[in-house]
Amino acid sequence: MKNRTCKWATWFAVAMLAVCALVGCASSSTASSQDDVDAVATAGVSDSGASSVAGNQASSEPTYNAQDDTRAQEFAVDPNANTEWRTKTDGTKTIWLTFDDGPSENTQKVLDILNKYNVKATFFVTGIKPDYAYMIKKAYEQGNTIGLHTYSHDYATVYASESAYFDDLDAVGALVKEQIGYVPCFIRFPGGSSNAISAEYTKGIMSELVNDVQDRGYQYFDWNISCGDGASGHTAEELAEAACDGDDYTNIVLLMHDSAGHEATVEALPTIIEHYQSLGYTFKAIDRSALASHHGVNN
Ligand SMILES: [Zn+2]
Repeated sequence: MKNRTCKWATWFAVAMLAVCALVGCASSSTASSQDDVDAVATAGVSDSGASSVAGNQASSEPTYNAQDDTRAQEFAVDPNANTEWRTKTDGTKTIWLTFDDGPSENTQKVLDILNKYNVKATFFVTGIKPDYAYMIKKAYEQGNTIGLHTYSHDYATVYASESAYFDDLDAVGALVKEQIGYVPCFIRFPGGSSNAISAEYTKGIMSELVNDVQDRGYQYFDWNISCGDGASGHTAEELAEAACDGDDYTNIVLLMHDSAGHEATVEALPTIIEHYQSLGYTFKAIDRSALASHHGVNN
């Protein structure tokens, strides 16, 4: 069934290419080329994984070509995708940098640093600052992955009910689609799947949502290391020290924030990247083979 689908997809792609060659299409549907208060709202941490992502080989000059970008096909939410998600660590030293709650005035600074070091990351975005929505496209075209974090990131709104959660998720999905052309399947719950704060609004909602999102074709990504910027007042040195404490993990999903007020995170980022580069970790943006780090559910 799967092979058959692939074969049809291949033929379809070939046919589309032929049509494009004939008509001289400029655009194509294909292309090839990742919390907040979250860590505070969360307690447990579990584990980890690695993957492959196109774009890791990019030069320091971002050279985005929409026609070469297959991510729309690979990353779009699809309840019938049958992805074999990996929730266990593998033996490959890999780190997925993840930035939550943006975009904001700090996102460009993060992108500049990622570009300087030629590494890719994942942005779990919100609609908190609509004026910066264009940064979603910029981050994407630089080879980073875009994930959904909810539009409002307001716990009382998001966790008021299951339908309220999906309304908010759909809103940020629409925002992202405006920027990159599709709704990605990668999500992160505000507070992580282990958050207990949701119990103040709806008892047991996380136990339902962790399954419901997957039924709808999404996959949620928690983290196994946090730089600690979910709590305010930390210096860049303190954040870097916490972020660099993942040497015991072969697969690291690192939680950081690019939202307003996180200048210390920006300042700590070069140190964090250099640390893991010196230890031989490969930096990857989340894709369907990435470690879907899952916390234990507490509500
Ligand atoms: Zn968040």
